[in-house]
Amino acid sequence: MALIIDRDLERYVHDHTEPPPALLDELREHTLANEPSAGMQVGRVEGTLLKLLVALMQARRVLEIGTFTGYSALSMAEALPPDGELITCDRDPDVSRVARSFFDRSEHGKKIRIALGDALDTIRALPASPAFDLVFIDADKERYSTYYEEVLPRVRRGGLIVADNTLWSGEVLAPQTVDGRALAAFNDLVYRDPRVEKVMLSVRDGVTLARKR
Ligand code: SAH
Ligand code: CA
Repeated sequence: MALIIDRDLERYVHDHTEPPPALLDELREHTLANEPSAGMQVGRVEGTLLKLLVALMQARRVLEIGTFTGYSALSMAEALPPDGELITCDRDPDVSRVARSFFDRSEHGKKIRIALGDALDTIRALPASPAFDLVFIDADKERYSTYYEEVLPRVRRGGLIVADNTLWSGEVLAPQTVDGRALAAFNDLVYRDPRVEKVMLSVRDGVTLARKR
């Protein structure tokens, strides 16, 4: 992932953002040391943004599409009330095992349920209610538009859909790859969708917020 802003500024932003609890730092280090695609983790700035959004929304039910080793899930779970629930989807049992091992070491881990399997199957099998207060989309980029259409009916009025990597290192300006084209199409879809109020944030690799009217 190429940075949207220059490295020194990105570092400055990081250094002036709330430091996460030690367990999240450990999860980050563990993932960097053991996972070739560790760069997929949202990290401090976006993790804190997600946590703040969950808190501001006073969310009780959160859905995440794309757990990986659990950094974003654990960040969000920290802001849920004790009886809150976060369902997180991933199809990779190996990364899910790492995620669970870290969730089990946190007092917030009991709020998190990992749904192992293809995310689309998981979402389609979810009951229509209770609705979600917040959904974080961060799995296979080709499917962003499909995930969006599937989850929107399952989000409450006033609820929030957050989508990661929507600038795709800037490639959305001139898409060259399947993923780049899919993300550009997703951005157009959300922009034109009257059902949501939306803003694109140039945080990290691009974060889109879409609030259901
Ligand atoms: N939010 C995570 C990063 C997610 S990376 C963090 O901050 O750490 C994307 C994840 O999506 C990967 O772990 C991958 O296994 C998962 N994924 C990709 N396609 C999927 C699919 N069709 N169903 C479920 N999970 C999928
Ligand atoms: Ca991501």
